[in-house]
Amino acid sequence: MYAPYALRPEESRGRRYPEKPHAYRSDFQRDRDRVVHSRAFRRLESKTQVFTNRESDHFRNRLTHTIEVAQIARTVASALGLNSDLTETLALVHDIGHPPFGHAGEQALDREMRRFSDIFDHNLHALRIVEHFELRYPEFRGLNLTFEVREGIIKHSRDWNANEFPELAEYLLDQRPPLEAQVIDLADELAYNTADLDDGVESGILSIDLIREGLPQFERVWEEVDQNYPEALPKLKFSECLRRILDRMVTDLIHATGHRIRAARIHRASEARQYPERLLGLSAEASAERRAIKQFLHDHLYSSPVLSQDRERLEDVISELFRYWMAHPEDLPLSYQEQLEGEKLERVVCDYIAGMTDNFILREHEARIVEQNRPG
Ligand code: MG
Repeated sequence: MYAPYALRPEESRGRRYPEKPHAYRSDFQRDRDRVVHSRAFRRLESKTQVFTNRESDHFRNRLTHTIEVAQIARTVASALGLNSDLTETLALVHDIGHPPFGHAGEQALDREMRRFSDIFDHNLHALRIVEHFELRYPEFRGLNLTFEVREGIIKHSRDWNANEFPELAEYLLDQRPPLEAQVIDLADELAYNTADLDDGVESGILSIDLIREGLPQFERVWEEVDQNYPEALPKLKFSECLRRILDRMVTDLIHATGHRIRAARIHRASEARQYPERLLGLSAEASAERRAIKQFLHDHLYSSPVLSQDRERLEDVISELFRYWMAHPEDLPLSYQEQLEGEKLERVVCDYIAGMTDNFILREHEARIVEQNRPG
């Protein structure tokens, strides 16, 4: 059951290459299925979320993170009466453009590209994947996704200026993305905030005591849980706390957004697009709590010596290989060498590296950099 402001499948601006409707799947359902069956989606399994060293099999990777985001996003979308098929598709595709090694990879590629007055952005790369790099259909390049899915991919957590990025002009850059797409920004953040507390404790970099001391809102929930289950093991109390925090955040997101949609008198999907700001969001109070968790994770986890050293080493891996292929384009795979007719070398090297999994790039680094420099 759609709310009046949901984006209905029949309102879609359609695909680049028109296709016959499917007998029982809507276009957004088909897009979801195309994403799930893509090669780029399968590679998420071997891409870092936060922890690169696989000392535990329980850390999130990009694939399990993506599935958690899809779970939260679908819940929020259906509670608000939005088109949950479109939201689910966007959740499943939202990290498909991430390079190996998480943010370290993104930063290193961006730094290399800036030397050529260009940038690397994972949303833009995701668009290139679904438009050009996935080769699965005899009739067209890419996945031929609907307009709204391609638009949602590039507008994930950021806006674009049409003067600076004329190649994106078709994506209604002066409008907000549909509410279905706005859900992803928040679902992503709520998912990784609680997941990173969890993985942080699993890794031993964080401890439950440190979180209780550093996050007053966590301490309040801990006391509640402690009263309910005084005999429970600390790790069960901890996971009950995370469960309650995530549930409270998601509930707040649904209520605060519903309130904002009503206050703005939004009755159609097009009105949500025209509204001057994104309507999906937490209440002021939950927003402050979300920022506090983010800050805590930054101070105690992301910038911890273990993860910082790891990041520096992995940025070097990417930069060294980037420079290697810039100097030796003849060592690129043939399919990439063919792209040099229409693309600059740095873009082709960047695309090649961005598509790699953590495992693959480490093997390449071993073979092309480490082996070469080993004294005979
Ligand atoms: Mg994400």
